[in-house]
Amino acid sequence: MNARDIEQKVDMTYIQNVLMELIKIESINPPKDGGEKKAAEFLAGRLQELEIDAEVHEVADGRANAVGIISGSNTGPTLVLNGHLDVVGANPEDWDNPPFDPVIRNRRIYGRGAADMKSGIASMIGAAKLIKEADIPLKGRVLLSFVCDEESKNLGTLDFLDRYPDADYAIIGEPTSLHLVTAHRGVARFRIGVGGKAGHAGEPENAVNAVCLMNGIISALQEYQQIINKRKHKMLPSPTCSITGIKGGQTDNVIPDRCEITIDRRLIPGEDIEQVENELKEIIQGKGGMEKDGYTMERYIFVGPGELKPNRPFFSTIKDIYARYFDVQNVEPQGFRATCEQSLFIDKGIDTAVFGPGSIGQAHQANEYVEIDELRKAAGFYYYSVLSLLAGKGN
Ligand SMILES: [Zn+2]
Repeated sequence: MNARDIEQKVDMTYIQNVLMELIKIESINPPKDGGEKKAAEFLAGRLQELEIDAEVHEVADGRANAVGIISGSNTGPTLVLNGHLDVVGANPEDWDNPPFDPVIRNRRIYGRGAADMKSGIASMIGAAKLIKEADIPLKGRVLLSFVCDEESKNLGTLDFLDRYPDADYAIIGEPTSLHLVTAHRGVARFRIGVGGKAGHAGEPENAVNAVCLMNGIISALQEYQQIINKRKHKMLPSPTCSITGIKGGQTDNVIPDRCEITIDRRLIPGEDIEQVENELKEIIQGKGGMEKDGYTMERYIFVGPGELKPNRPFFSTIKDIYARYFDVQNVEPQGFRATCEQSLFIDKGIDTAVFGPGSIGQAHQANEYVEIDELRKAAGFYYYSVLSLLAGKGN
């Protein structure tokens, strides 16, 4: 069966309908009114209508995953199709149409999550429908994993991986504009604080100015940025260390006794978080001029970098599936511009690629959209991957 045959069978009315209904559910993160749980319940319902076993797993109050299982004969691998239910918030004033009331215009669907990444989920459900309709015996099983909290602490995927740690492969449907992606940078965010001694602004000799102390740290971090910029990865931009915020001072006639900055550190595969923390301490205590206990450093966000290594068999397999489906000769897997949950799967030993409809450039933007044609191709590719990996078909 070739790609064109498959794409003719894709039920576009159904996929568009699932996507429009899903966009209407305000599953924003930070969470509000149990939106993520409502989205999980909606999707579990759609899967059950297709006679797919599906459950809702509540991972926190009002926050849940939907997991669907299409079982085969138990003699083959387990493939996860993963997507996140949560979206970032939207200010209706910035949008031409209400962000949670999707519209179709110029063969695009507009709405919050249209690209990132409710379209990936809708395409996966479209693929699940094809699997059920084709009724082809599968050797392994497909897990449809629709998770909450990707945009923050990854509670949903962590819960999923606790339940299904022995899956073999995964495809994450983040918006890659239908490119095959095999690596992404990680992100770590820190708060760094220094304390001084408050005093009258007119008598600085009797005070220690925390903002001036922080100035030393900021200069040191800018030098650090130059150093890490020399580290390279074949598919990804170099690591970065950006200062994203500063707070200090209470009133304009008092020398501040406290200053705090936030930094965003992007990691490439090969860098690890202990190394990064040690480097930061070294630079702050060296060029930054701080004593070991003269500052505080707290990490409050971390997702590691991820890479499906080219020496893994799945790297060649998924490349080959992609080449056959899209009828291209030389597939060059790409890096992902944003962070995603690939690294969490890879840390569990699950070989994982990223592929989905929509552009990452649309993510988190006003008037976010997905090209409808990409939904069809994505659904077809997911289906073709299932046939190739679990049914020995798709040649
Ligand atoms: Zn996303």
